[in-house]
Amino acid sequence: MRIGIDLGGTKIEGIALGDDGSVLLRRRSVAPRDDYQETLATMVTLVREIEREVGGIGSVGVGIPGTISSETGLVKNANSTWLIGRPLAADLPRMLGRPVRFANDANCFALSEATDGAAAGADIVFGVIIGTGTGGGIVVHRRVLTGRNGITGEWGHNSLPWPREGEWPGPPCYCGKSGCIETFLSGPALARDYQASGGPSLSAVDIATRAGAGEPLALRSLARYEDRMARALASAINVIDPDVIVLGGGLSNIDRLYESVPTLWTPFVFSDRIGTRLVRAAHGDSSGVRGAAWLWDKMWT
Ligand SMILES: [Zn+2]
Repeated sequence: MRIGIDLGGTKIEGIALGDDGSVLLRRRSVAPRDDYQETLATMVTLVREIEREVGGIGSVGVGIPGTISSETGLVKNANSTWLIGRPLAADLPRMLGRPVRFANDANCFALSEATDGAAAGADIVFGVIIGTGTGGGIVVHRRVLTGRNGITGEWGHNSLPWPREGEWPGPPCYCGKSGCIETFLSGPALARDYQASGGPSLSAVDIATRAGAGEPLALRSLARYEDRMARALASAINVIDPDVIVLGGGLSNIDRLYESVPTLWTPFVFSDRIGTRLVRAAHGDSSGVRGAAWLWDKMWT
């Protein structure tokens, strides 16, 4: 079996996948906040419990917020700050007595969808998670591109391309810059745009629902959002030319994006014909943990 662990800020999720991708078992624990040693112990317990219940041992892949630095071997860029600077990639394999593969959680999402999800069979896949932030991962021929700096796919902190009036310099971003794609495409960004145009404080999905009911303010806000998403994705298409772009996260539940955005990106993509498809994630919230399991592409014995 392949075991995947998704190390989140509030929960640690474990899954065991069979050879064909079927779910053998799922387990979930509360993430011990601000405690690295407890985090390690929880992960080990999760793996042992899964193996005891399913019977047998499995390969272990782990999706983490942030990445393992190729220079130091330590965790970096994690929003679960108690992991930063910790030797997770050395400690967990030692405690489990086997090699463990690690990848950024957005990369795991992309791998899951490219393996047996909405982009199954596609050569080049750009997986984009849009929720409270924007993350991305690139999978080519079913392999995650990790990158020299461990930041492949992190297009959310590029600036919004082809800015229109009023979009420059753009809202401040937590990364220290202004006008990052994330400051226009995250859920909070859509909510802020709607409020700034005179609407009440609502979640992104509620705004989409109001747009569906024909509310003019929500319709205009969503139209701006789609135009921005189209330009942001077009800049990614021009670089990696993916077969499929898979959307995950809360905003991926807005149905009309899949029709409107590919129409709107046409003028910005440097090609007379565009075969790239924009699709919704097939595995929903499970993509991260499934992708962690798929970090071992060949069956491990
Ligand atoms: Zn930023």
